[in-house]
Amino acid sequence: MTDQQTATSATTEPSGGVRVRFAPSPTGALHVGGVRTALFDWLFARGEAKRQGLDGAFVLRIEDTDRNRYVPGAVESLVASLRWFGLDWDEGPDVGGPFAPYTQSERTDRYRAHAESLIAGGHAYRCFCPPDRLERVRAERQAAGLPPGYDRHCRALPAEDVAANLAAGMPHVVRFATPRQGETIVHDLIRGEITYQNATLEDLVLLKSDGYPTYHLANVVDDHLMAITHIFRGPEWIPTAPVHVLLYQAFGWSMPALLHVPLILAPGGGKLSKRHGATGLEEFQAQGYLPEALMNYLVLLGWSYDGTTEIFSRADLLEKFSIRRISASPGTFDHDKLRWFNQHYINHILSVDDLAARVVPFLADTGLVDAAAAAPSHPQHAQVREAAALLKDRLETLAQAPDLMGFLLADALAPYDPLTLVPKKTEPAAALRALEATLAALDEVDLADEAATEARLRGLAEELGLKTGQLFMAIRVAVTGRTQSPPLFATMHVVGADRCRARVAAAADALRRSVATPVPAGD
Ligand code: GLU
Repeated sequence: MTDQQTATSATTEPSGGVRVRFAPSPTGALHVGGVRTALFDWLFARGEAKRQGLDGAFVLRIEDTDRNRYVPGAVESLVASLRWFGLDWDEGPDVGGPFAPYTQSERTDRYRAHAESLIAGGHAYRCFCPPDRLERVRAERQAAGLPPGYDRHCRALPAEDVAANLAAGMPHVVRFATPRQGETIVHDLIRGEITYQNATLEDLVLLKSDGYPTYHLANVVDDHLMAITHIFRGPEWIPTAPVHVLLYQAFGWSMPALLHVPLILAPGGGKLSKRHGATGLEEFQAQGYLPEALMNYLVLLGWSYDGTTEIFSRADLLEKFSIRRISASPGTFDHDKLRWFNQHYINHILSVDDLAARVVPFLADTGLVDAAAAAPSHPQHAQVREAAALLKDRLETLAQAPDLMGFLLADALAPYDPLTLVPKKTEPAAALRALEATLAALDEVDLADEAATEARLRGLAEELGLKTGQLFMAIRVAVTGRTQSPPLFATMHVVGADRCRARVAAAADALRRSVATPVPAGD
């Protein structure tokens, strides 16, 4: 291995195609940072490469070799989250492919063999240092003001000692024998060249004493064996990039192009964490965010088309995304802005049919409709669709549907608070008279004719000596159970004549009971 190390950095391969991979570790819910990396991978393979006439393959690989951080069920949940988000992959643990298996814990033989080949070539060595020695070295280095790390004690171990230790079954790790002199240049597609002095690099562990590889070995071996052409990964890996460059050199392999995506910061700076709100995809899904709104929002955290356009459909992104417009500077995750995108998609982009289908799981969770009501043939579907049409302009998230649509879908409302039925500047007795007269008027109108219904009820207000606002408020509370609602006559139409009558009658009853036991007048 030479001391001057460089990596190849072609944007695209001259022939053949591009192969990118998303390589999450199943340590918990899929984080927005990870999914944005996956999105960049996917858009590059499916969009940019295709536009250049190249084949683009997107690979999902599970990096589960850190057994201490493994969370059972995390693989299934991240696969489900990626699919919900709208990504698909050509190769992966669930779909197979020519380089299977795609789960690293099933590939440990390969890593061990590659570690052995590095040892044989003098690029790696066995380290038998016990934990207490490593701890002591760390403390000594710290006291001496040196950067933390290993003192390379076992790098110089005579071959007989190594053989004896092995014969005695001594636990050990395999470390990379990092060159001591020279410099290593990392070529990052968006950050350019980053030069490292080899003397500052550590002899990183490649194979742990449990026989599992570290990220560094497994990742490099797999990217090579899986013929990956472009590596997109989080900025937290920049410091180890020179070691990866050196590993490729040690193996005698050419290195894929490398791109570290920009950091995602919390509002006000710092690491985005739970205390700023949701960070995992499952949480956004549960909070009623649309995957297309999240995709649109996330792609803009580190990429821009022209600096001004904000709304991009998936098709737009496939047509316009280019890694050349990925920025190196961090993006800030702003939950309010995401909510704005979500509302925009619900209000302006989703069709009513689509919205109806998507609110059903949220409505079903609270028992308002059957889980099968998303199907147009289901008897409850028409009503959900009408509710969706009425509230499309008001919803910010799908999770608001039960609260905002409940009164349209439930048979009966919660018991009335009689006070709310008494409009301002009227008496309970006047409100009761108004509701009784409304009940009679409802028999004469066809709620499908919203204008005629309105005209009739305006006339009624006049007959009762009430302001229209006063009468309409009493009716609104009676019909919806709340003081704010979508336009009253459209709402009454959706609620339907039978339920309107039943609700106005129930409201009148509640008032009648309270008139018997007087309540204070509305002020
Ligand atoms: N398993 C690593 C992670 O989850 C992958 C990093 C990479 O893409 O190389 O951060």
